[in-house]
Amino acid sequence: MTDYRRLRVALLGAGAVGSQVASLLLRHGDELADRAGAHLELAGIAVRDVDAPRDVDLPRELFTTDAETLITGADIVIELMGGIEPARSHILLGLGSGADVVTANKALLATHGPEIFDAAGRVGASVYYEAAAAGAIPIIRPLRDSLAGDRVVRIMGIVNGTTNYILDRMDGEGADFADVLADAQRLGYAEADPTADVEGYDAAQKAAILASLAFHTAVPLDAVHREGITTVTADMIEEAREAGFVIKLLAVCERLGNGGDESISVRVYPALVPRDHPLGAVHGANNAVFVEAEAAGSLMFYGAGAGGVQTASAVLGDVVSAARRHIAGGTGVGESTRANLPVVSIGHVLTRYQITLEVSDEAGVLAAIAGLLSEGGVSVATLVQTVIPAEDGAGGDTARLIIGTHRATDSALSAAVDRLAASDAVERVVSVLRVEGE
Ligand code: NAP
Repeated sequence: MTDYRRLRVALLGAGAVGSQVASLLLRHGDELADRAGAHLELAGIAVRDVDAPRDVDLPRELFTTDAETLITGADIVIELMGGIEPARSHILLGLGSGADVVTANKALLATHGPEIFDAAGRVGASVYYEAAAAGAIPIIRPLRDSLAGDRVVRIMGIVNGTTNYILDRMDGEGADFADVLADAQRLGYAEADPTADVEGYDAAQKAAILASLAFHTAVPLDAVHREGITTVTADMIEEAREAGFVIKLLAVCERLGNGGDESISVRVYPALVPRDHPLGAVHGANNAVFVEAEAAGSLMFYGAGAGGVQTASAVLGDVVSAARRHIAGGTGVGESTRANLPVVSIGHVLTRYQITLEVSDEAGVLAAIAGLLSEGGVSVATLVQTVIPAEDGAGGDTARLIIGTHRATDSALSAAVDRLAASDAVERVVSVLRVEGE
């Protein structure tokens, strides 16, 4: 056995991810040592309850409730407790004690990232967080290292497995949101309280992390525009299918403008994606991140976005990086915020809407609608009209219009939808969706 140096690893948390990380650390010690150039000794595991049942068998003597003592004796701290406190204080304590840190905590990084990266920078340590966005999929390292010499233009990601599972089943079965959500909860794909997933909060945290890294800018969570999927109906999915689209909850991080006039947009919403786009083919609870860079072109990263053992794989990769850095010493790799680009509000984003309306099937209605759209500079690119005959067969039919607009600012498009909703020519605005990935 190679006579490597020993590094003490403190593991905070032994839940779905932490227990698998401990198991892999103990089982794959020799392979990890050869990759890291150090023996990674699991010094202890901090939990709330040392006697709680675990997903895997782990030596009882490793468990402790004294996280602070464990942290201050460690070379590497792996934070897998989740939440803000005490995770934040523990990470700061670890950095202050000379450790490098690995975390999967997207909620913490999206809200306290700058504080944590500053603390790491002050002591010359590094914070690794591959598992905080898109689980097992390598996306942080490609953005930080592989594409370091390129310029990322756009990231479009399906970064929440629960919502992709729900939308994919609605698409495959024609089922309603509420029915699929209930089934997803029964099968363990959705939490008892699904708010973080279905309202887009989880995806927004990941979008903030990806955009911050890709655009050398600290993106605060409240600058991320967020809409969830609770308003998506079976009818909207069917209409999307007929028009060659699929509805996906997307996290979009985009560079706008150029030269000295650059800004970025970071947004999460359900959008129409062409069925033949790589993101259109992402099924079940899988995640995928589509990256467009100036030199590299289009890249697609695909795989499991969550799951204990899958996420543990990403964590272990980070542990190896942390170990190498710890041995090499010197200044850690900090987070760059050198560009510090302004994050524009959704109203400034150029996009395309698909608007479905129900109108009375009468002469002059189409002209009235085109007039309402063009008032705000919005023009019609495509129009599909279907007549829905009145049930009594006595005339007074309704027409369903599916209007695809040309690109316009989101504020102009949403104002146009408001005018349509208020107009006598329109009986009902059935749905409004943005189109991405064309
Ligand atoms: P989890 O199953 O809820 O486990 C949390 C662990 O942390 C438990 O072992 C718990 O101890 C311990 N813990 C919590 N609060 C503590 C405290 N105050 N003091 C000491 N120990 C404490 O969480 P998880 O699913 O493994 O997730 C961990 C992290 O990974 C989170 O940041 C999550 O967002 C992230 N992540 C998870 C996944 C996934 O698929 N699960 C995917 C990507 C990222 P007890 O066991 O004693 O209660």
